Amino acid sequence: MLTVRNLHAGYDGKEVLRDVNINVPTGSVVTVLGANGAGKSTLLNSIVGLVPTSSGVIEWNGGKIENTTPDQALKCGIALVPEQRELFLGMSVADNLRMGAYLRRNSLDIGAEQQYLLEIFPSLKSRLEQPARALSGGEQQMLAIARALMSKPSVLLLDEPSLGLAPKFVEEIFRILKQITGDGTTVLLVEQNAAMALDAAESGYVLDIGKITFSGTSEELKKSPIVRASYL
Ligand code: ATP
Repeated sequence: MLTVRNLHAGYDGKEVLRDVNINVPTGSVVTVLGANGAGKSTLLNSIVGLVPTSSGVIEWNGGKIENTTPDQALKCGIALVPEQRELFLGMSVADNLRMGAYLRRNSLDIGAEQQYLLEIFPSLKSRLEQPARALSGGEQQMLAIARALMSKPSVLLLDEPSLGLAPKFVEEIFRILKQITGDGTTVLLVEQNAAMALDAAESGYVLDIGKITFSGTSEELKKSPIVRASYL
């Protein structure tokens, strides 16, 4: 279980997250819905140490994740796919994938992982030697997710994976999400596409100006008048 308890975090004295509590059971998909600026990215970034926390506890499988950095979080099995993707645009698709496995030592394992991921992300297969900047927005998002998966994370934090993508890529992303979670990966998904996020997730939270204002199963969220009015 990934647990966030009483979390406060923000930037230069500006508190953004106020007493946030979230549980992501191992092997499940949990979504966080919220308007622009609600603090969704801040939440994911604070879990991996990109945003400093002022108080609260983050735990993965009972172990505290304290004063972490993104590479320490990765060593604990937590990988972030950031909203901006942060690909190495001048490097080839294959090298971007290899960078995702930089903590892994066994080159046979890394090769096998890449083969496996290329089955899940077939559109990357024929593009391996091209620079990442030659890919479309949707393909770049696939690459960002595949790169994160190269570390074989236990927990994947996905920040707005469908943002700005054509409908066919949005569907593809959610199809892939299903496949990834079928393999046992735990996912915390931040999305503006609430309908698709709630279809993919078992449960969810509403984050409103830095505070959790509603939580429940996806079915409960879909039925909630507040969620229906604001997000669906
Ligand atoms: P969006 O969907 O627009 O990305 P969000 O819910 O992910 O929104 P955040 O990006 O976490 O929201 O932003 C929450 C608040 O923190 C906003 O008021 C934003 O302006 C502020 N903020 C975000 N990043 C920084 C930063 N690096 N420095 C200062 N303030 C920031």
